[in-house]
Amino acid sequence: MSGITPEELEYRRRTPASERFFLEARRYLPGGDSRSTLFYPPYPAVLARGDGCRITDLDGNELLDFSGNHSVLVHGYGHPVVLDAVRRQLEAGTCFSGPTEPQLRLARMLCERVPSLDLVRFTNSGTEATLQAIRVARAFTGRRLIARAQAAYHGSLETTMDPAHPDAIVIPFDDAEQAVRRVEARGRELAAVLVEPVQGSAGMIPATREYLDRLRETTRQLGVLLVFDEVVSFRIAWGGAQEFYGITPDLTIFGKLIGGGFPLGVLGGRADVMALFDPSRGPPAVPHPGSYNANPVSLAAGAATLELLTREAIEALNRRGDALREQLRDLFDHTDLRTRITGLGSLFAIHPTEHPELRHRIFLGLYNQGVLIDPRGVGTLSTAIGEEEIARFLEALRTMQFLAPAGSSAL
Ligand code: PMP
Repeated sequence: MSGITPEELEYRRRTPASERFFLEARRYLPGGDSRSTLFYPPYPAVLARGDGCRITDLDGNELLDFSGNHSVLVHGYGHPVVLDAVRRQLEAGTCFSGPTEPQLRLARMLCERVPSLDLVRFTNSGTEATLQAIRVARAFTGRRLIARAQAAYHGSLETTMDPAHPDAIVIPFDDAEQAVRRVEARGRELAAVLVEPVQGSAGMIPATREYLDRLRETTRQLGVLLVFDEVVSFRIAWGGAQEFYGITPDLTIFGKLIGGGFPLGVLGGRADVMALFDPSRGPPAVPHPGSYNANPVSLAAGAATLELLTREAIEALNRRGDALREQLRDLFDHTDLRTRITGLGSLFAIHPTEHPELRHRIFLGLYNQGVLIDPRGVGTLSTAIGEEEIARFLEALRTMQFLAPAGSSAL
């Protein structure tokens, strides 16, 4: 297939206002936006409104939301409990030059849910939480090097994004033995090993228990801090993926759902490490100022979100996620297309391994039928999604021509 696909033609027909927006926005914003991962060809649809699991775009198309802003909106748009909490905080004040009550509340909630958290520190994003994790790990160990897994994403920092960064090494994600060997080889220089228990941006790929176990054991022996990035994986269990895997990291990074749809990041962990941020006993070893640190609106939204994310809610989400992945496997098994379905709990991804170019056609094809996933083929469930929405998602896939049952498909 060359040139424009039928899915793109249809997408263009449905989204003329988004195209006009894009052409105008490019005059003022590089690429028409401020978030690299949101771009997809021919132009990204402009999203105007969200309500529960439904989104409306600028052209008035209605979409079922299987993205949840890349796993942020675990309860969908406009949950009344979250909105109420935010409204109350907006009226009380959006930011202060002093500590606020919502901060203590969310800190306590997090420390109660996640046993590895003695102390936490709030930032504005997952990226910033990673930045502070790296700083504090360096200060604590007196070492500079950071290790991270192949294809991992920990935020837009040079240390974690540049594969050739002099202060970072990359270890395999799918090979525990090799990963441990690389960590051991640089053990004396390493401050921290960063790892996502479930790789999010790379395509919802859960680590094996053995992989995380071996990293835990090795880092402990070498005096290297093990940092779990639970920005995406926290929703897997009440106490995060670390509860699911039964592994205790030294530090954990949180983001996305933790702010209930508002900007928030968290770094937490061992008291002796986190104490380096403490300014109450003299100048801190790791100063961490920031005008919006621990923003009370985000904290209020986050606390309301976590309160709603009970063990029962997580179990229901996970059951639905298990069923969806099973149905997706079944659906793709009946086509000629070799496809891998990955994920854990309420996280899933569709990998057309044989024809990766189909990833984009699937994304646009779903969009045309009123279903939104991430352009990279990953998706997440929210508590606002029910059986009916899942049935519509599967039906949308079934009606795509290139996903016709085996024997009849034409690529
Ligand atoms: N870590 C992981 C695993 C992420 O998926 C992301 C965001 N996609 C980040 C860190 C960075 O978080 P933020 O976008 O809030 O800076």
